Amino acid sequence: MPFRQTGSLRLYQFQSLDHPRLVHSIFTRKGGVSPEPWSSLNVGSTVGDDLERVAKNKCLAFRALERSINSAYEVWQMHSDRVVVADAPRGECRLKKADAIITNNPEVTLFMRFADCVPILLFDPQQKAIGLAHAGWLGSVRMVAKAVVNAMIQVYGCKPADLIAGIGPSIGVDHYIIGSDVVDRFYKAFGKQAESFLVNRNGQFHLDLWKTNYEILAGMGLKNIEVAGLCTACNLEDWYSHRGESGRTGRFGALIALK
Ligand SMILES: [Zn+2]
Repeated sequence: MPFRQTGSLRLYQFQSLDHPRLVHSIFTRKGGVSPEPWSSLNVGSTVGDDLERVAKNKCLAFRALERSINSAYEVWQMHSDRVVVADAPRGECRLKKADAIITNNPEVTLFMRFADCVPILLFDPQQKAIGLAHAGWLGSVRMVAKAVVNAMIQVYGCKPADLIAGIGPSIGVDHYIIGSDVVDRFYKAFGKQAESFLVNRNGQFHLDLWKTNYEILAGMGLKNIEVAGLCTACNLEDWYSHRGESGRTGRFGALIALK
């Protein structure tokens, strides 16, 4: 079972990232302190929820995995392909603008926020390095998954074949209708390969973000990629979905750290 209950929290964990040196989880929306429409473990501070509740929810999440909130490294997510190397916890430093974070420091806990975009977790058991990325349609077009793998290769000497990746809960192809502008961007970025990421149903294009990011990672030489296959919009009792809830929603957290 990929789901685990810890106190009031319900967590999702990848089977292939179950490793004695690694702690990771994608938090469902259950077990937090926020009321509707953010009920309840909202970790997004830009969605109208009270900031004290957001801080409390983050503490609950970190505590569930026995990580200190002071070890956190977060970024200002902006749908880019920018990667930050987190040598130390962020502490009082300003949030950097980026959509991927990497580290090999066990004192650092990587944390990001999601509501439909794809969480990508990465672990190299050989070099003892990790990465976390945020890929919506724009981040996928910009190939943030490729950028984060390249950064792990350059900074930590990782070999793609050693990397284990998890593609987390995010909006599935059935629920993700996109406009012609996005279709154009995909053809520009991926050429003919874009055809396999786009599905035309009755004249409307749907985008398969799971397949897009899977193929980007596989194209980099990754052999071990686990796809959660859980659609956020289909499972609103567990996940926040920007599309599924017409923007009135929170953000769920994804966390990864070395032990
Ligand atoms: Zn769905």
